[in-house]
Amino acid sequence: GSDPTLRPESRPEDADRALRPETLSDFVGQAEARSNLRVFIESARSRAAAMDHTLFHGPPGLGKTTLAQIIARELGVNFRMTSGPVLAKAGDLAAILTNLEARDVLFIDEIHRLNPAVEEVLYPAMEDFELDLVIGEGPAARTVRIELQPFTLVGATTRLGLLTTPLRDRFGIPIRLQFYSEEELFRIVARGAGLLGIEAEESGLRVIARRARGTPRIAGRLLRRVVDFAVVEGEGRLTGALADSALTRLGVDALGLDGADRRYLRLIAESYQGGPVGVETLSAALSESRDAIEEVIEPYLLQQGLIQRTPRGRMLASGAWTHLGMVPPDAPGQ
Ligand code: ADP
Repeated sequence: GSDPTLRPESRPEDADRALRPETLSDFVGQAEARSNLRVFIESARSRAAAMDHTLFHGPPGLGKTTLAQIIARELGVNFRMTSGPVLAKAGDLAAILTNLEARDVLFIDEIHRLNPAVEEVLYPAMEDFELDLVIGEGPAARTVRIELQPFTLVGATTRLGLLTTPLRDRFGIPIRLQFYSEEELFRIVARGAGLLGIEAEESGLRVIARRARGTPRIAGRLLRRVVDFAVVEGEGRLTGALADSALTRLGVDALGLDGADRRYLRLIAESYQGGPVGVETLSAALSESRDAIEEVIEPYLLQQGLIQRTPRGRMLASGAWTHLGMVPPDAPGQ
């Protein structure tokens, strides 16, 4: 199995926080999203209005939470954070909404996992800044309408397709986050090394950037691990050779794939001759949830062109065979 702390979706918050950019200018990459957000923030500020509701979608660890915090900071308002699974009852959300001050940012992570009764409360809140509360029970029950302060809902999801249409339609600003380029990750890692105060060679930082799976959260994690090796075994210097050997010892290969990624690829290669094979079958064989496969493992493999999704299931692309050091069963010349 793979080291859970290397997975992009696991998030020990305090470790992440020190490297988290606090302003839009410090935020590296996502150029299009950043320049659009700059306009929407500036406009909301100058109108003294709440910014439109914003939905971030994309794989874990790409900066959805970070951008939500930056929006609040740049708007000069409070930041409140919760998540879909935490909001069990309509009353939980109502309590948060009634405590918001004018133009505050409310961030709801994993918004595709809201329970339907809670989602119902959100519609009038988003649309008209109103809350319909049911007071009492049975025949004595009555509805009370409560006015809310105008606020900005920032939602985040790894699975846009699981959002209901009415919820999706209520976000004025939908933004898709992309995997980061090696150059962008290099800048993120270099900034992180500076913040951690480690003496680092450019080649060492580049090794980390290249193997960070396109994901800033992973880049930060790998950097911390490599710094540990540099301190203990490298006389405090983060060099290319040190980063390379540290990452290899952590099970992160030359493409940045970790144990779970390789297990996935090897299963399709060895047990299904390269596929196609259905995601349910993979899920059972790997003992990984279907969600984890679709949200965490597959997006990067797809982006790297290592696998293809076909109507009949997942298939390995030729690059995956090369990466595994294997030959496809019906390769020409075999
Ligand atoms: P998500 O909410 O999409 O899962 P986060 O916003 O929690 O991702 O980001 C994970 C970590 O990665 C953050 O704590 C931050 O340290 C780092 N990070 C994310 N995006 C960037 C970026 N563009 N520049 C620098 N660091 C970033």
